[in-house]
Amino acid sequence: MITPPLGLYVHIPFCRQRCDFCAFYLEIHREGRATTFVQSLIQEIGLATQQHVAAGHPIQSVYLGGGTPTVLASAQLVAILSEIRSRLPLASDCEITVEAHPSTISMQNLVQLYQAGVTRMSFGAESMVDSDLTRIGRPGVVEETVTAMRQARAAGFININLDLMYGFPSQSLESWKRSLTDCIALQPTHLSCYALTVEPDTKLAANIQRHRSPALDEGLQITMDDVAQQILAAAGYERYEVSNYAKPGYACRHNLLYWTNGEYLGVGPSAQSYLGGTRFGNVADLTAYTAALAAKHLPNEDRAILSKEEQLRDAVIFGLRLIQGIPSQHLHQHATNYGHETVTAQLLAQHLIEEDGGRSKLSAHGRLQADTIAEQLY
Ligand code: SF4
Repeated sequence: MITPPLGLYVHIPFCRQRCDFCAFYLEIHREGRATTFVQSLIQEIGLATQQHVAAGHPIQSVYLGGGTPTVLASAQLVAILSEIRSRLPLASDCEITVEAHPSTISMQNLVQLYQAGVTRMSFGAESMVDSDLTRIGRPGVVEETVTAMRQARAAGFININLDLMYGFPSQSLESWKRSLTDCIALQPTHLSCYALTVEPDTKLAANIQRHRSPALDEGLQITMDDVAQQILAAAGYERYEVSNYAKPGYACRHNLLYWTNGEYLGVGPSAQSYLGGTRFGNVADLTAYTAALAAKHLPNEDRAILSKEEQLRDAVIFGLRLIQGIPSQHLHQHATNYGHETVTAQLLAQHLIEEDGGRSKLSAHGRLQADTIAEQLY
């Protein structure tokens, strides 16, 4: 029997400080709580793999995300990776990504991560223009991203992602173009470009509500998305998902698992899992997480066994985000299952979804409304 690929996501819930736009679950990094967390995480990796991973099911990707994993000491990250290796069979070509804020790494850290088998670094650059970073309350300066890229290369990394955001309050089109061209000059193998969204209960949302910051210009965001596609295509980056671009052969294997409805185990507070048609998540609270593991319980909650129809729904909604799309018969079967025939016909008539050669995908215009379309098809 062929076992489907399996990914492992590790959530490190710490940052040095919270950016104004960020709504992720995280805690401000303190050494004491980080030490306790790493002990709990190592315990969880042992318990979760015993309970959830069939022997011989190789892991094709490991992703340390957050938060900012690199606020932990390199020795802690290496210990986590070593525990993963001792508990789980990693495929020989396993992709192992570590996310980093550029200000939190050094040459020495990068060499240690490389030697521990990390194959891919992902730096949260966000912008290549200092005044843009100030506008969204993202600590640090552009020079740190430039240094991080240079040091990562010197440490041996070839596969490096830069995360960018666009559509900040008052950000001009010129500034966005500069971010893109300055990023390209650093020659990452992968670029993620996310439209800034205003999440409730963030400092950015409060600033906009109190008129301390202008509201986002959605029309300009659409133009910026278009410009990104043109500039990045001309530089040899293929768009393979709504927000993701890669040089040929460098698409992120771990994130592709999410968009192809593949299976993954998540560990760490708030991490989500999808295994054998069941979705479950970990408690998004560090104290409750640590207490559960101290009592030798997995910190899981919100378990949902998906029916075949729900599994197809998720495969359709995630898969439409991919440039390669999904088999059209899946889209139409899902429409029948959920009584979405009219809305699906409208999305096709409005050219928000396009069908070609038996496959369906979001059109260029549809990609700009990916979240709204997902809600309509849910
Ligand atoms: S560094 Fe990333 S995870 Fe941390 S607060 Fe900023 S956006 Fe959120």
